[in-house]
Amino acid sequence: MLVKDIRQQIESLKQKKNALILAHNYQVPEIQDIADYVGDSLELARISQGIKQDTILLCGVYFMAEITKILNPDKTVLMPDQHAGCPMANMITPALLSAAKQDHPKAAVVCYVNSNADVKALTDICCTSANGVKVAESLSEDEILFIPDQYLGAYVSKSLPRKRFHLWPGYCPTHMVFSREGLEKLKEEYPGAKIVAHPECRLDVQEIADRICSTSQMITYAKDSEAKHFIICTELGMLHRLKKENPEKVFIAGSPNAICPNMKLTTLEKILWSLERNEFEITVDEQMRIQALGSIERMLMVK
Ligand code: SF4
Repeated sequence: MLVKDIRQQIESLKQKKNALILAHNYQVPEIQDIADYVGDSLELARISQGIKQDTILLCGVYFMAEITKILNPDKTVLMPDQHAGCPMANMITPALLSAAKQDHPKAAVVCYVNSNADVKALTDICCTSANGVKVAESLSEDEILFIPDQYLGAYVSKSLPRKRFHLWPGYCPTHMVFSREGLEKLKEEYPGAKIVAHPECRLDVQEIADRICSTSQMITYAKDSEAKHFIICTELGMLHRLKKENPEKVFIAGSPNAICPNMKLTTLEKILWSLERNEFEITVDEQMRIQALGSIERMLMVK
C-alpha cells in the first residue's frame, strides 16, 4: 500500500473510532507528521488529560502508554507495538527499589517518569528531565534516592548541593553514544554552534554543553537563542521537530548513532493495524494505578 493511502486510512479510522494520536519527539518524521500532538513525555501526559476522544493511540514506548492509562483510566489506550519498551525503565524493579529504600530509610524517592508503573507506585514523587531540579528542591527531606537514571540524577544533584543524593546506576543506552571527543570535532567544523545536551547524556558531555535541557526546552532554547547552528545531543527524531519549528536555523546531530531502536519500532503500518484491531490495549492494575497516580500528581503540583 502507498504511504499516501495508509495516511488516508489512518485518518478515516481515527474519525470513525473517535481516536487521537500522540507521538513522542523521538518518533520517525512521518509519524510525527500524522500525529495530533507531538511532545515529550510530560507534554503528552498533560495533553492526554484534556482531550475528548474515547481512544488514545500512543506512539512512543511502553512507560509512556502506561502513564497515559494511569491518567485516563476511562479511555482506551493503544500502543502499535507492544515490544517497544525502555531499557532504562527496566533497570530497576520493585524488589530492587524496596531493598534500596531499606538501605536509605530517610531518603525521599524521586523517580524519573522513564520507569514502569510498578516502580512509580513505590516512590514518593515523579519527575521529568524538565522539572527534576524543582521536584527535588520542593521536598523537605535532605536525602534523596534518585531512580533510575544516574545522569539525570547527577545533573539534579549538582544544582542542589545542600541535599545528599543516592543515584541508581541506570542509564539510557541511546544517550551513551555522545562523547566529548566527538563533540569537540563537531565544534571545529561549526565553531559558532551551541551544544545542547539532554540530561540523560554522560557527564563529560554535560560538562562541554552550552545548555542542558529536556527536549521541550530545546525547542524554546533554539527559538530564543541568537545562534544559528546547534549541535543536538539527544535521539535523532528530535531534529525533525527542531527543524520544522525553526526553519531558518541549522541543527546538527551530536552523533549519527543516537537512535533508540524501541522508539523506531512504531511504523505507519502498525498504527493502521492498531486502530483497525484495537490492539495493543494498555491495562494497569487498579491498585497500582492509584499508587502510581499519586506520585505523578504530586509532581504535577510542583510549580
Ligand atoms: S531514548 Fe533511552 S530513555 Fe528514551 S525510550 Fe529509548 S532507551 Fe528509553
